Amino acid sequence: MQQFDLVVIGGGSGGVRAARIAAGHGAKVALVEEYRLGGTCVIRGCVPKKLMVYASRFAQEFEEAHGFGWTVGQSHFDWATLKANRDREVARLESVYRSNLLAAGVTLFDSRAVLQESHVVRLTDGTLLQGKTILVATGARPETGPAIPGLELSIDSNGFFELEQLPKQVVVQGAGYIALELACVLRRLGSEVSVVLRGEQILRGFDDELRAHLSNELAAIGIRFLFGRTFAAISRQGAGLQVTLDDGQTLDADCVLRAVGRTPNTAGLGLQEAGVALDAKGAVRVEGLSQTSVPHIHAVGDVTNRVNLTPMAIREGHAFADTVFGKTPRGVDHTLIPSAVFTTPEAGVVGLTEAQALQQYPHLDVYRTTFRPMKATLSGHASRVFMKLLVDRDTDRVLGFHAVGPDSGELAQLVGVTLQLGATKSAFDATLAVHPTAAEELVTMRTATVRHNL
Ligand code: NDP
Repeated sequence: MQQFDLVVIGGGSGGVRAARIAAGHGAKVALVEEYRLGGTCVIRGCVPKKLMVYASRFAQEFEEAHGFGWTVGQSHFDWATLKANRDREVARLESVYRSNLLAAGVTLFDSRAVLQESHVVRLTDGTLLQGKTILVATGARPETGPAIPGLELSIDSNGFFELEQLPKQVVVQGAGYIALELACVLRRLGSEVSVVLRGEQILRGFDDELRAHLSNELAAIGIRFLFGRTFAAISRQGAGLQVTLDDGQTLDADCVLRAVGRTPNTAGLGLQEAGVALDAKGAVRVEGLSQTSVPHIHAVGDVTNRVNLTPMAIREGHAFADTVFGKTPRGVDHTLIPSAVFTTPEAGVVGLTEAQALQQYPHLDVYRTTFRPMKATLSGHASRVFMKLLVDRDTDRVLGFHAVGPDSGELAQLVGVTLQLGATKSAFDATLAVHPTAAEELVTMRTATVRHNL
């Protein structure tokens, strides 16, 4: 039995950060990872996805170049080159994660880990690790979705990153972050893409006007949305596949991609046997600072199904390590979370949606604008930028920012800082424009489009 102050199960964003910070505070730390260091974000999520988003954006750049006097030669996209380069970068990052952990003095175990008892972790080869504190940071995996005939013929986001060639005809199920980002990558690289969603609009939980604007933009690039529909079956049809929807309609495809949410990785870890309470979705229940129902067992990141975003897992892992090993109790604010959806055009948001704001602020002013970006004047591209600020008239505080257009994710990051500082609309107005930019719209929206009086 090897003894540690901290045994971390899971080497993704949250687990790695917690391990490194705890080791920096002088703790003797073990980290156990069964697959690849870096977790979903680095290995089969944010990082490889963003590289593919970059790849997918060149096609429009080539088209737009004509209006600026460029003659662009025959362009040809090679999936195999992109995949090889992407996988090489992911492998490089994985090795950086490994060397950083080792440099911090963390002992690494490449194995699956199961709790044998509340302080003891058993590895696949029978090795036992005893931890004064245990951190569960096992993340989440793609949700399988409803069991339908032929489900095994489809892939999820993990399968997407293993595709050896660009599919010609893709049917995507779901309309959340993952479904839309991957649908957009495939469409922009040249696939025919249909998105089947059970609801009446994409991106549930986002601001309604942003949802409508983005779905129009994505429809304009040829993504076909089938609203209010679900999959009934998937079958082989000659060399390809066929999806049958609940209304009997059929869609041909050579790739069927499911992106219907994610499930916390808690099965078979011995958590409940050790007394760790899970919620109905199988997520680890945590209170206060990531503490589970067993006081020396903590959990951070997607396995807790709070805010399933990499920066939040990192922050939770860091706060846990500072609190337990650094004598600096640190909370994590789970509100005011900037985020982006890396479709093209991309969406960037922070703060309340209009519907959320109206529940708390009866005197809400909405400042909204849509406009053709300057680049489109010569390129002729039809895409329009959308920007929206929500302001509490009583205090002048800016409550929410929602945008669709180039670099909206970058904007959400900086507008997020201003909202943290409690920025008022007057402060936006007093800020001089950077001209000519799209972002200057944010400081030049003088007249409210809607003035709510509830
Ligand atoms: P989301 O929760 O964002 O979306 C799930 C989608 O699947 C929704 O459209 C939902 O529909 C649909 N769905 C759920 N269950 C069913 C069902 N039984 N039948 C049909 N459709 C169904 O999950 P994702 O998997 O896209 O992403 C998981 C999380 O990962 C995100 O919430 C986000 O936190 C994170 N993420 C963040 C990214 C970023 O920051 N850029 C990128 C990728 C992921 P409905 O709307 O009707 O519920």
